[in-house]
Amino acid sequence: MQMADTVVINVSNNISSNGDVVVNGNDEKILMKLSGGHHGVDPANALDNARHEFGEHGGVNMSIEASVMFTVMEPETLSRIIAKELGPENGYFSYSRNFNPTVLSLGRQMAALEGTEAAYCTASGMSAIASSLLQLLSSGGHVVASSSLYGGTHSLLTHLLPRICNITTTFVDIADLEAVGNVIVEGKTKVLYFESIANPSLKVANTPELARIAHKKGVTVVVDNTFAPMVLSPARLGADVVVHSVSKFISGGGDVIAGAVCGSASFVNSLMDSQQGTIMLLGPTMNANVAFDLAQRIPHLGLRMKEHSNRALEFATRLKNLGLNVIYPGLEDHPQHELLKSIGNKDYGYGGILSIDMGTVKKANKFMSYLQNYSQFGFMAVSLGYYETLMSCTGSSTSSEMNEEEQKLAGITPGLIRMSVGYIGTLEQKWSKLEKAVLKFNENY
Ligand SMILES: *Cc1c(COP(=O)(O)O)cnc(C)c1O
Repeated sequence: MQMADTVVINVSNNISSNGDVVVNGNDEKILMKLSGGHHGVDPANALDNARHEFGEHGGVNMSIEASVMFTVMEPETLSRIIAKELGPENGYFSYSRNFNPTVLSLGRQMAALEGTEAAYCTASGMSAIASSLLQLLSSGGHVVASSSLYGGTHSLLTHLLPRICNITTTFVDIADLEAVGNVIVEGKTKVLYFESIANPSLKVANTPELARIAHKKGVTVVVDNTFAPMVLSPARLGADVVVHSVSKFISGGGDVIAGAVCGSASFVNSLMDSQQGTIMLLGPTMNANVAFDLAQRIPHLGLRMKEHSNRALEFATRLKNLGLNVIYPGLEDHPQHELLKSIGNKDYGYGGILSIDMGTVKKANKFMSYLQNYSQFGFMAVSLGYYETLMSCTGSSTSSEMNEEEQKLAGITPGLIRMSVGYIGTLEQKWSKLEKAVLKFNENY
Protein backbone atom coordinates (compact mmCIF):
# COMPACT_ATOMS: atom_id res chain seq x y z
CA MET A 1 0.00 0.00 0.00
CA GLN A 2 1.35 3.29 -1.05
CA MET A 3 0.51 6.78 0.01
CA ALA A 4 0.23 9.39 -2.66
CA ASP A 5 -0.74 12.95 -2.13
CA THR A 6 -4.35 12.84 -1.03
CA VAL A 7 -4.91 9.14 -1.51
CA VAL A 8 -5.22 7.86 2.01
CA ILE A 9 -6.48 4.39 1.32
CA ASN A 10 -5.32 2.75 -1.84
CA VAL A 11 -7.66 -0.11 -2.36
CA SER A 12 -6.93 -0.61 -6.04
CA ASN A 13 -6.31 -4.29 -5.31
CA ASN A 14 -9.92 -4.57 -4.23
CA ILE A 15 -11.57 -5.56 -7.44
CA SER A 16 -15.07 -4.37 -7.91
CA SER A 17 -17.01 -6.81 -10.03
CA ASN A 18 -19.27 -4.15 -11.41
CA GLY A 19 -17.19 -1.08 -10.92
CA ASP A 20 -19.83 0.89 -9.09
CA VAL A 21 -17.67 1.55 -6.09
CA VAL A 22 -15.23 4.15 -7.25
CA VAL A 23 -12.03 4.40 -5.33
CA ASN A 24 -9.61 7.03 -6.46
CA GLY A 25 -7.66 9.99 -5.30
CA ASN A 26 -9.51 12.78 -7.00
CA ASP A 27 -11.68 15.21 -5.19
CA GLU A 28 -14.93 14.40 -6.87
CA LYS A 29 -17.77 13.82 -4.48
CA ILE A 30 -19.27 10.48 -5.32
CA LEU A 31 -22.71 9.35 -4.34
CA MET A 32 -22.48 7.18 -1.26
CA LYS A 33 -22.98 3.63 -2.28
CA LEU A 34 -21.81 1.11 0.22
CA SER A 35 -22.75 -1.76 -2.00
CA GLY A 36 -23.57 -2.26 -5.61
CA GLY A 37 -26.94 -2.13 -7.26
CA HIS A 38 -26.24 -5.56 -8.67
CA HIS A 39 -28.41 -7.71 -6.46
CA GLY A 40 -30.51 -10.25 -8.21
CA VAL A 41 -33.59 -11.82 -6.75
CA ASP A 42 -31.67 -14.71 -5.25
CA PRO A 43 -29.34 -14.26 -2.26
CA ALA A 44 -26.79 -16.83 -3.52
CA ASN A 45 -26.57 -15.04 -6.89
CA ALA A 46 -26.21 -11.71 -5.18
CA LEU A 47 -23.45 -12.96 -2.86
CA ASP A 48 -21.51 -14.29 -5.84
CA ASN A 49 -21.93 -11.00 -7.69
CA ALA A 50 -20.83 -8.92 -4.71
CA ARG A 51 -17.41 -7.38 -4.74
CA HIS A 52 -14.71 -9.73 -3.47
CA GLU A 53 -12.18 -8.03 -1.22
CA PHE A 54 -8.59 -9.20 -1.63
CA GLY A 55 -5.84 -8.85 0.95
CA GLU A 56 -3.23 -6.16 0.92
CA HIS A 57 -0.60 -8.45 -0.64
CA GLY A 58 -2.97 -10.08 -3.09
CA GLY A 59 -4.21 -12.61 -0.55
CA VAL A 60 -7.45 -14.31 -1.46
CA ASN A 61 -8.87 -13.11 1.85
CA MET A 62 -9.28 -9.46 2.69
CA SER A 63 -6.85 -7.88 5.12
CA ILE A 64 -8.05 -6.94 8.58
CA GLU A 65 -7.95 -3.18 9.05
CA ALA A 66 -7.32 -3.23 12.77
CA SER A 67 -6.69 0.50 13.06
CA VAL A 68 -8.95 2.74 15.06
CA MET A 69 -7.69 5.89 13.34
CA PHE A 70 -6.47 6.67 9.84
CA THR A 71 -3.71 9.05 8.87
CA VAL A 72 -3.48 11.46 5.95
CA MET A 73 -0.68 13.19 4.04
CA GLU A 74 -2.14 16.69 4.07
CA PRO A 75 -3.95 18.47 6.91
CA GLU A 76 -6.69 19.62 4.52
CA THR A 77 -7.63 16.01 3.80
CA LEU A 78 -8.53 15.40 7.43
CA SER A 79 -10.87 18.36 7.58
CA ARG A 80 -12.45 17.32 4.30
CA ILE A 81 -13.08 13.83 5.72
CA ILE A 82 -14.64 15.33 8.84
CA ALA A 83 -16.74 17.64 6.65
CA LYS A 84 -17.87 14.52 4.74
CA GLU A 85 -16.54 15.79 1.41
CA LEU A 86 -14.46 12.63 1.42
CA GLY A 87 -15.59 9.37 2.92
CA PRO A 88 -15.62 5.58 2.73
CA GLU A 89 -17.30 5.70 -0.69
CA ASN A 90 -14.03 7.03 -2.12
CA GLY A 91 -11.67 5.26 0.24
CA TYR A 92 -11.30 7.78 3.06
CA PHE A 93 -11.76 6.76 6.68
CA SER A 94 -11.20 8.69 9.88
CA TYR A 95 -12.17 6.76 12.99
CA SER A 96 -13.48 3.22 13.36
CA ARG A 97 -16.56 4.05 15.47
CA ASN A 98 -17.56 5.74 12.25
CA PHE A 99 -16.85 3.48 9.27
CA ASN A 100 -14.11 0.82 9.39
CA PRO A 101 -13.07 -0.76 6.03
CA THR A 102 -13.25 -4.37 7.26
CA VAL A 103 -16.64 -3.90 8.92
CA LEU A 104 -17.79 -2.15 5.75
CA SER A 105 -16.73 -5.18 3.68
CA LEU A 106 -18.89 -7.42 5.87
CA GLY A 107 -21.64 -4.84 5.43
CA ARG A 108 -21.37 -5.25 1.65
CA GLN A 109 -21.86 -9.00 2.03
CA MET A 110 -24.88 -8.42 4.27
CA ALA A 111 -26.34 -5.98 1.75
CA ALA A 112 -25.91 -8.55 -1.02
CA LEU A 113 -27.46 -11.26 1.16
CA GLU A 114 -30.52 -9.14 1.91
CA GLY A 115 -30.77 -7.33 -1.43
CA THR A 116 -30.45 -3.85 0.04
CA GLU A 117 -28.45 -0.92 -1.23
CA ALA A 118 -26.27 -0.85 1.90
CA ALA A 119 -25.68 -2.46 5.29
CA TYR A 120 -23.51 -1.97 8.34
CA CYS A 121 -22.71 -4.24 11.24
CA THR A 122 -22.99 -3.69 14.97
CA ALA A 123 -21.86 -5.29 18.21
CA SER A 124 -25.08 -7.29 18.71
CA GLY A 125 -28.49 -8.01 17.28
CA MET A 126 -30.12 -5.94 20.02
CA SER A 127 -27.98 -2.92 19.16
CA ALA A 128 -28.90 -3.29 15.47
CA ILE A 129 -32.58 -3.35 16.44
CA ALA A 130 -32.39 -0.51 18.99
CA SER A 131 -30.24 1.70 16.71
CA SER A 132 -32.61 1.21 13.78
CA LEU A 133 -35.73 1.97 15.81
CA LEU A 134 -34.26 5.01 17.54
CA GLN A 135 -33.05 6.34 14.19
CA LEU A 136 -36.53 6.09 12.68
CA LEU A 137 -38.47 7.34 15.70
CA SER A 138 -38.47 10.52 17.72
CA SER A 139 -39.71 11.17 21.23
CA GLY A 140 -43.42 10.40 21.44
CA GLY A 141 -43.40 8.28 18.29
CA HIS A 142 -45.52 5.18 17.79
CA VAL A 143 -44.66 1.66 16.67
CA VAL A 144 -46.97 -1.10 15.54
CA ALA A 145 -45.31 -4.44 16.26
CA SER A 146 -46.08 -8.11 16.06
CA SER A 147 -47.20 -9.61 19.37
CA SER A 148 -44.86 -12.53 18.63
CA LEU A 149 -41.32 -11.19 19.03
CA TYR A 150 -37.94 -12.09 20.49
CA GLY A 151 -38.10 -11.44 24.26
CA GLY A 152 -35.43 -8.74 24.25
CA THR A 153 -37.14 -6.79 21.47
CA HIS A 154 -40.47 -7.13 23.26
CA SER A 155 -38.91 -5.70 26.42
CA LEU A 156 -37.25 -2.84 24.53
CA LEU A 157 -40.62 -1.83 23.07
CA THR A 158 -42.68 -2.49 26.21
CA HIS A 159 -40.43 -1.11 28.93
CA LEU A 160 -37.27 0.73 27.89
CA LEU A 161 -38.44 2.93 24.99
CA PRO A 162 -41.59 4.19 26.78
CA ARG A 163 -39.52 5.12 29.83
CA ILE A 164 -36.66 6.93 28.16
CA CYS A 165 -38.35 8.59 25.19
CA ASN A 166 -42.08 8.04 25.38
CA ILE A 167 -42.03 5.86 22.28
CA THR A 168 -45.04 3.59 22.56
CA THR A 169 -45.95 0.34 20.82
CA THR A 170 -49.21 -1.31 19.92
CA PHE A 171 -48.80 -5.08 19.61
CA VAL A 172 -50.96 -6.88 17.10
CA ASP A 173 -51.36 -10.34 15.58
CA ILE A 174 -49.76 -9.66 12.18
CA ALA A 175 -51.61 -12.59 10.61
CA ASP A 176 -54.70 -10.37 10.96
CA LEU A 177 -53.91 -7.88 8.17
CA GLU A 178 -57.06 -5.87 8.79
CA ALA A 179 -56.14 -5.42 12.47
CA VAL A 180 -52.68 -4.21 11.45
CA GLY A 181 -54.22 -1.56 9.20
CA ASN A 182 -56.58 -0.51 11.99
CA VAL A 183 -53.94 0.08 14.66
CA ILE A 184 -51.68 2.18 12.42
CA VAL A 185 -52.30 5.82 13.34
CA GLU A 186 -51.56 7.89 10.25
CA GLY A 187 -49.05 10.61 10.99
CA LYS A 188 -48.12 9.16 14.39
CA THR A 189 -47.12 5.58 13.61
CA LYS A 190 -43.62 5.62 12.14
CA VAL A 191 -42.61 1.96 12.15
CA LEU A 192 -44.18 -1.42 11.54
CA TYR A 193 -41.93 -4.04 13.17
CA PHE A 194 -42.08 -7.82 12.90
CA GLU A 195 -39.97 -10.97 12.49
CA SER A 196 -39.91 -12.81 9.15
CA ILE A 197 -40.38 -16.07 11.06
CA ALA A 198 -41.32 -15.31 14.63
CA ASN A 199 -39.46 -16.43 17.71
CA PRO A 200 -40.59 -18.94 18.96
CA SER A 201 -44.12 -19.25 17.56
CA LEU A 202 -42.74 -19.80 14.01
CA LYS A 203 -45.52 -17.67 12.55
CA VAL A 204 -44.46 -16.56 9.10
CA ALA A 205 -45.06 -12.91 8.23
CA ASN A 206 -46.82 -11.98 5.02
CA THR A 207 -44.20 -9.33 4.28
CA PRO A 208 -45.51 -8.27 0.83
CA GLU A 209 -49.00 -7.53 2.18
CA LEU A 210 -47.78 -6.00 5.45
CA ALA A 211 -45.41 -3.70 3.53
CA ARG A 212 -48.21 -2.66 1.20
CA ILE A 213 -50.47 -1.75 4.14
CA ALA A 214 -47.69 0.14 5.93
CA HIS A 215 -46.42 2.02 2.89
CA LYS A 216 -49.93 3.22 2.03
CA LYS A 217 -49.88 5.02 5.39
CA GLY A 218 -46.29 6.28 5.17
CA VAL A 219 -44.97 3.78 7.71
CA THR A 220 -41.43 2.32 7.53
CA VAL A 221 -41.25 -1.46 7.65
CA VAL A 222 -38.48 -3.00 9.78
CA VAL A 223 -38.10 -6.79 9.71
CA ASP A 224 -35.94 -9.01 11.91
CA ASN A 225 -34.72 -11.82 9.63
CA THR A 226 -32.60 -13.63 12.25
CA PHE A 227 -34.56 -16.89 11.90
CA ALA A 228 -34.45 -17.05 8.12
CA PRO A 229 -31.31 -15.77 6.36
CA MET A 230 -31.23 -17.12 2.75
CA VAL A 231 -34.68 -18.68 3.34
CA LEU A 232 -36.49 -15.34 3.18
CA SER A 233 -35.40 -11.97 1.78
CA PRO A 234 -37.72 -9.43 3.42
CA ALA A 235 -36.25 -6.43 1.58
CA ARG A 236 -36.87 -8.15 -1.75
CA LEU A 237 -40.48 -8.59 -0.54
CA GLY A 238 -41.00 -4.93 0.36
CA ALA A 239 -39.38 -4.28 3.77
CA ASP A 240 -37.43 -1.03 4.12
CA VAL A 241 -34.96 -2.12 6.79
CA VAL A 242 -33.82 -5.65 7.64
CA VAL A 243 -32.11 -6.29 10.98
CA HIS A 244 -30.21 -9.38 12.07
CA SER A 245 -28.80 -10.99 15.11
CA VAL A 246 -25.65 -12.18 13.34
CA SER A 247 -24.94 -14.20 16.51
CA LYS A 248 -27.23 -16.96 15.22
CA PHE A 249 -27.29 -18.69 11.80
CA ILE A 250 -25.04 -16.19 10.03
CA SER A 251 -22.23 -16.76 12.51
CA GLY A 252 -23.08 -20.42 12.93
CA GLY A 253 -20.30 -20.98 15.46
CA GLY A 254 -22.00 -19.90 18.66
CA ASP A 255 -18.88 -17.87 19.45
CA VAL A 256 -19.66 -14.29 18.40
CA ILE A 257 -22.28 -11.72 19.39
CA ALA A 258 -22.99 -9.46 16.42
CA GLY A 259 -25.73 -7.64 14.53
CA ALA A 260 -26.48 -6.01 11.19
CA VAL A 261 -28.70 -3.29 9.77
CA CYS A 262 -29.53 -3.55 6.06
CA GLY A 263 -31.34 -0.80 4.17
CA SER A 264 -30.98 2.13 1.81
CA ALA A 265 -27.62 3.91 1.61
CA SER A 266 -29.22 7.05 3.01
CA PHE A 267 -30.59 5.16 6.02
CA VAL A 268 -27.29 3.41 6.74
CA ASN A 269 -25.43 6.72 6.38
CA SER A 270 -27.89 8.40 8.73
CA LEU A 271 -26.92 5.91 11.45
CA MET A 272 -23.39 7.34 11.24
CA ASP A 273 -24.32 11.01 11.33
CA SER A 274 -22.12 12.86 13.79
CA GLN A 275 -25.06 14.74 15.32
CA GLN A 276 -28.02 12.39 14.91
CA GLY A 277 -26.65 8.94 14.14
CA THR A 278 -27.54 6.23 16.64
CA ILE A 279 -24.65 3.90 15.80
CA MET A 280 -22.19 6.79 15.72
CA LEU A 281 -23.38 8.27 19.02
CA LEU A 282 -24.51 5.28 21.05
CA GLY A 283 -21.46 3.41 19.79
CA PRO A 284 -22.35 -0.30 19.43
CA THR A 285 -19.29 -0.74 17.23
CA MET A 286 -18.20 -4.02 15.66
CA ASN A 287 -14.52 -4.88 15.96
CA ALA A 288 -12.63 -5.39 12.66
CA ASN A 289 -11.35 -8.82 13.77
CA VAL A 290 -14.91 -9.93 14.43
CA ALA A 291 -15.99 -8.61 11.03
CA PHE A 292 -13.25 -10.63 9.35
CA ASP A 293 -14.27 -13.81 11.21
CA LEU A 294 -17.90 -13.38 10.17
CA ALA A 295 -17.06 -12.51 6.56
CA GLN A 296 -15.34 -15.92 6.25
CA ARG A 297 -18.60 -17.69 7.18
CA ILE A 298 -21.07 -15.99 4.85
CA PRO A 299 -19.90 -17.92 1.74
CA HIS A 300 -21.13 -21.18 3.31
CA LEU A 301 -24.25 -19.77 4.93
CA GLY A 302 -26.37 -21.06 2.03
CA LEU A 303 -25.03 -24.61 2.37
CA ARG A 304 -25.60 -24.54 6.11
CA MET A 305 -29.13 -23.19 5.84
CA LYS A 306 -30.05 -25.90 3.32
CA GLU A 307 -28.95 -28.61 5.73
CA HIS A 308 -30.52 -26.96 8.79
CA SER A 309 -33.80 -26.82 6.84
CA ASN A 310 -33.46 -30.31 5.40
CA ARG A 311 -33.00 -31.88 8.82
CA ALA A 312 -35.65 -29.76 10.50
CA LEU A 313 -38.21 -30.86 7.92
CA GLU A 314 -37.20 -34.50 8.20
CA PHE A 315 -37.28 -34.50 12.02
CA ALA A 316 -40.52 -32.50 12.17
CA THR A 317 -42.21 -34.98 9.83
CA ARG A 318 -40.97 -38.04 11.70
CA LEU A 319 -41.75 -36.59 15.16
CA LYS A 320 -45.26 -35.78 14.03
CA ASN A 321 -45.65 -39.36 12.81
CA LEU A 322 -44.66 -40.49 16.32
CA GLY A 323 -47.60 -38.46 17.65
CA LEU A 324 -45.81 -35.39 18.99
CA ASN A 325 -47.32 -31.93 18.69
CA VAL A 326 -44.83 -30.36 16.28
CA ILE A 327 -44.93 -26.82 14.95
CA TYR A 328 -42.88 -26.29 11.78
CA PRO A 329 -43.63 -24.10 8.76
CA GLY A 330 -42.54 -26.93 6.47
CA LEU A 331 -45.43 -29.11 7.66
CA GLU A 332 -48.62 -28.84 5.63
CA ASP A 333 -50.70 -28.27 8.76
CA HIS A 334 -48.78 -25.09 9.62
CA PRO A 335 -51.08 -22.08 9.04
CA GLN A 336 -48.52 -20.25 6.90
CA HIS A 337 -47.08 -23.27 5.06
CA GLU A 338 -48.40 -22.16 1.68
CA LEU A 339 -47.41 -18.56 2.31
CA LEU A 340 -43.79 -19.49 3.08
CA LYS A 341 -43.72 -21.74 0.04
CA SER A 342 -44.81 -18.84 -2.13
CA ILE A 343 -42.56 -16.08 -0.72
CA GLY A 344 -39.50 -18.12 0.32
CA ASN A 345 -36.33 -18.34 -1.76
CA LYS A 346 -36.17 -21.56 -3.74
CA ASP A 347 -34.00 -24.42 -2.44
CA TYR A 348 -33.52 -23.20 1.15
CA GLY A 349 -36.48 -24.99 2.67
CA TYR A 350 -38.50 -23.80 5.64
CA GLY A 351 -35.80 -22.87 8.13
CA GLY A 352 -33.86 -24.65 10.83
CA ILE A 353 -36.15 -24.14 13.82
CA LEU A 354 -39.02 -26.31 14.93
CA SER A 355 -41.09 -26.26 18.10
CA ILE A 356 -42.64 -29.10 20.07
CA ASP A 357 -45.48 -28.52 22.50
CA MET A 358 -45.08 -31.02 25.32
CA GLY A 359 -48.09 -29.71 27.24
CA THR A 360 -46.41 -28.83 30.53
CA VAL A 361 -43.06 -27.40 31.64
CA LYS A 362 -42.42 -30.60 33.60
CA LYS A 363 -42.85 -32.82 30.54
CA ALA A 364 -40.81 -30.43 28.39
CA ASN A 365 -37.96 -30.48 30.89
CA LYS A 366 -38.06 -34.27 31.17
CA PHE A 367 -37.97 -34.69 27.39
CA MET A 368 -35.07 -32.23 27.02
CA SER A 369 -33.08 -33.96 29.72
CA TYR A 370 -33.54 -37.31 27.91
CA LEU A 371 -32.47 -35.68 24.64
CA GLN A 372 -29.29 -34.30 26.16
CA ASN A 373 -28.29 -36.71 28.91
CA TYR A 374 -29.75 -40.06 27.83
CA SER A 375 -29.51 -40.12 24.02
CA GLN A 376 -26.97 -37.32 23.36
CA PHE A 377 -29.12 -35.74 20.67
CA GLY A 378 -28.51 -32.08 21.50
CA PHE A 379 -27.78 -29.46 24.11
CA MET A 380 -30.07 -27.62 26.50
CA ALA A 381 -29.13 -24.02 25.76
CA VAL A 382 -30.67 -20.80 24.58
CA SER A 383 -29.87 -19.32 21.16
CA LEU A 384 -30.00 -20.94 17.74
CA GLY A 385 -28.22 -21.43 14.45
CA TYR A 386 -25.45 -23.66 15.80
CA TYR A 387 -24.12 -26.84 14.17
CA GLU A 388 -25.27 -28.84 17.19
CA THR A 389 -28.96 -29.02 18.03
CA LEU A 390 -29.98 -26.56 20.75
CA MET A 391 -33.18 -26.75 22.73
CA SER A 392 -34.85 -24.62 25.33
CA CYS A 393 -38.23 -24.27 26.95
CA THR A 394 -38.95 -20.75 25.72
CA GLY A 395 -41.58 -19.70 28.22
CA SER A 396 -39.15 -20.03 31.10
CA SER A 397 -35.97 -19.01 29.24
CA THR A 398 -35.62 -16.77 26.19
CA SER A 399 -39.11 -15.28 26.48
CA SER A 400 -39.18 -14.99 30.27
CA GLU A 401 -39.18 -11.18 29.89
CA MET A 402 -42.83 -11.53 28.90
CA ASN A 403 -45.59 -12.01 31.45
CA GLU A 404 -48.13 -14.82 31.20
CA GLU A 405 -50.62 -12.80 29.18
CA GLU A 406 -47.95 -11.52 26.78
CA GLN A 407 -46.65 -15.05 26.29
CA LYS A 408 -50.13 -16.27 25.49
CA LEU A 409 -50.53 -13.55 22.85
CA ALA A 410 -47.15 -14.49 21.41
CA GLY A 411 -48.24 -18.10 21.03
CA ILE A 412 -45.94 -19.39 23.75
CA THR A 413 -47.41 -22.29 25.68
CA PRO A 414 -45.74 -23.42 28.94
CA GLY A 415 -44.49 -26.76 27.54
CA LEU A 416 -43.15 -25.34 24.28
CA ILE A 417 -39.66 -26.53 23.37
CA ARG A 418 -37.85 -24.53 20.72
CA MET A 419 -35.38 -26.68 18.84
CA SER A 420 -32.68 -25.26 16.59
CA VAL A 421 -31.75 -28.26 14.48
CA GLY A 422 -28.03 -28.77 13.89
CA TYR A 423 -26.29 -30.58 11.05
CA ILE A 424 -23.47 -32.39 12.86
CA GLY A 425 -23.36 -36.17 12.35
CA THR A 426 -25.43 -38.03 9.81
CA LEU A 427 -29.17 -37.50 9.62
CA GLU A 428 -29.98 -41.13 10.47
CA GLN A 429 -27.51 -41.21 13.36
CA LYS A 430 -29.13 -38.11 14.87
CA TRP A 431 -32.63 -39.40 14.19
CA SER A 432 -31.93 -42.62 16.07
CA LYS A 433 -30.87 -40.55 19.10
CA LEU A 434 -33.96 -38.38 18.83
CA GLU A 435 -36.22 -41.42 18.49
CA LYS A 436 -34.54 -43.14 21.44
CA ALA A 437 -35.39 -40.17 23.68
CA VAL A 438 -39.00 -40.11 22.45
CA LEU A 439 -39.41 -43.83 23.21
CA LYS A 440 -37.92 -43.39 26.69
CA PHE A 441 -40.23 -40.45 27.34
CA ASN A 442 -43.28 -42.42 26.17
CA GLU A 443 -42.33 -45.29 28.51
CA ASN A 444 -42.41 -42.95 31.48
CA TYR A 445 -45.32 -40.62 30.59
C1 LIG B 1 -31.07 -13.49 19.47
C2 LIG B 1 -32.06 -12.64 18.80
C3 LIG B 1 -31.98 -11.24 18.88
C4 LIG B 1 -30.94 -10.53 19.71
O1 LIG B 1 -29.67 -10.69 19.16
P1 LIG B 1 -28.29 -10.58 20.00
O2 LIG B 1 -27.26 -10.82 18.96
O3 LIG B 1 -28.34 -11.63 21.06
O4 LIG B 1 -28.24 -9.20 20.58
C5 LIG B 1 -32.92 -10.51 18.18
N1 LIG B 1 -33.90 -11.10 17.46
C6 LIG B 1 -34.01 -12.44 17.38
C7 LIG B 1 -35.11 -13.03 16.57
C8 LIG B 1 -33.10 -13.25 18.04
O5 LIG B 1 -33.23 -14.59 17.96
